[in-house]
Amino acid sequence: MIIAEMTMPEFEAGLEKCRTVLIPFGSVEEHGNHLPLSTDTIQACDVALKAARVRPLFIAPPVHYGNCRSTACHPGTISITTTTLKSLFRDIVCSLRSHGMRNFIALTGHAGGAHCMALQEVGEELVRDYADIQVAVVTEYELARNEGRSIIETPGDAHAGEIETSRIMHSHPHLVKGSSPEEYPAFPVGMMVRDKRRYWPGGVWGNPAKATAAKGARIEELVVLKLVELADRLEQVADEQ
Ligand SMILES: [Zn+2]
Repeated sequence: MIIAEMTMPEFEAGLEKCRTVLIPFGSVEEHGNHLPLSTDTIQACDVALKAARVRPLFIAPPVHYGNCRSTACHPGTISITTTTLKSLFRDIVCSLRSHGMRNFIALTGHAGGAHCMALQEVGEELVRDYADIQVAVVTEYELARNEGRSIIETPGDAHAGEIETSRIMHSHPHLVKGSSPEEYPAFPVGMMVRDKRRYWPGGVWGNPAKATAAKGARIEELVVLKLVELADRLEQVADEQ
């Protein structure tokens, strides 16, 4: 049940079937020379839509913008503050709750540390403030890395490398513009770096050359299964309460 495509009566009828909503979060962020700026949003939306084909599940319109730190200086990255991100998450959940939604999954395609922490903080606040809801905050990239560990060949692959390139080659091949060299950032530990491109010129963390569409398809399937499992678990916990 894709909220953006539903009518008011369809939304209302949908609540009779399920009260679980998945909210995809992404980023507008450089992904090397070869992947689109919306890679994180695309990945989160893809698996959300596929999970909704397997079981009744509302999919909220995605939050396209995220908080980006290490890629902030790279052309094309549009970063929002964690304050804005937290407000968005909280406001969306509160509004959906007022309509009867009870189980919330924030699925973030962007895996930035501060970004994920901000979503987790709001998740904790929400379960503290509202006794009638369940909240999960999941990093899509972590699911992909964990579930795909037997498929991925690049140790430490993280950003625009083997995993993400495989995913987009599978789901949106027309958006992959060639490849980028294997690269790993070399930020000095603990130091706030003004010119981040100096330490990470290509904006790749991993090896895109190891990517294949087949790997992407398999990883995507495994992530979808995990999401369905999570939605079931949330509803089970809600029923027990
Ligand atoms: Zn990404």
